[in-house]
Amino acid sequence: MSEQHPRITREKKTIDTMVHIYCKGHHETKGDQLCSECTEFLSYAFTRLDKCPFQEEKSTCGKCLVHCYQPQMREKVKTIMRYSGPRLLLRSPGLALHHAFDGRKKPQTLEEFRKKKPQGPA
Ligand SMILES: [Zn+2]
Repeated sequence: MSEQHPRITREKKTIDTMVHIYCKGHHETKGDQLCSECTEFLSYAFTRLDKCPFQEEKSTCGKCLVHCYQPQMREKVKTIMRYSGPRLLLRSPGLALHHAFDGRKKPQTLEEFRKKKPQGPA
């Protein structure tokens, strides 16, 4: 578990915070609670991050060229980001800054990514 890239850990924290902001605003949950729908979504997002082939090299999920989310989940993440993005800036400016910075990384296709690596798992 400690093998996780800091980049992925940060991304998890960002999405976690965003889902909480969204859930509070839409589903009237209190404090740090999440409704079952949002809990399910968050664990789905975490799984995708764990499996993300880019890991440390990744851009933000919103810009990624590899669409690893199911269409339905992708719609949901877009809605959540649109709502929580600006609010994240107020609530956790540090996280939002990191996120904006990570988003400046040019998204690459899996093919480009593999080509760039001197030696990687084929
Ligand atoms: Zn919710």
